[in-house]
Amino acid sequence: LANADLRALIADVPDHPKPGVVFKDITPLLASPRGYAACVDALVAAAPSGIDAVCGMEARGFLFGAPVALALGAAFVPVRKPGKLPRAVVETSFELEYSSETLAVHADAIAPGARVLIVDDVLATGGTVVATAELVRRLGGELAGVAVVMELAFLQPRALLSRHGVDDVAALL
Ligand code: AMP
Repeated sequence: LANADLRALIADVPDHPKPGVVFKDITPLLASPRGYAACVDALVAAAPSGIDAVCGMEARGFLFGAPVALALGAAFVPVRKPGKLPRAVVETSFELEYSSETLAVHADAIAPGARVLIVDDVLATGGTVVATAELVRRLGGELAGVAVVMELAFLQPRALLSRHGVDDVAALL
């Protein structure tokens, strides 16, 4: 599928979840087996080599991170909202486009030195990826790259990511 076809499977929903935000709704993409598969294939193709673990952030990061991890033969590491993971966690808090958020990961989820890929659906301000990168570093992982389906370039996420030492970012759309 061409990028234009993938783009057509992501719906713009104005003023969700609050006025002024154009929400990128990926549910039509998920409903298209060809589109979803093409998206996962493209994320896998964009991944750096030698990935040991893929971090996906609750909840839509799971939908893309998990199939990418399977395809790469890598571990999938769920990055979750607080209070969800049952064992010892490492947490970090941050601001994003329309809320403040805390993310948590199991303290033993990433082996020291593991090469980690972060996968999510939409890269908006970049706050979620920066927070996840912080969790990866705190567990001793090496952040090898970030791969997202769609980047909202007008929010300039790459400037924020670059200030936090995250420069290997691939966006399909
Ligand atoms: P950010 O931390 O600002 O880069 O926001 C990225 C996270 O919030 C991702 O997990 C997205 O799923 C979600 N998100 C932020 N803004 C949007 C948007 N306009 N449309 C869809 N999802 C969004």
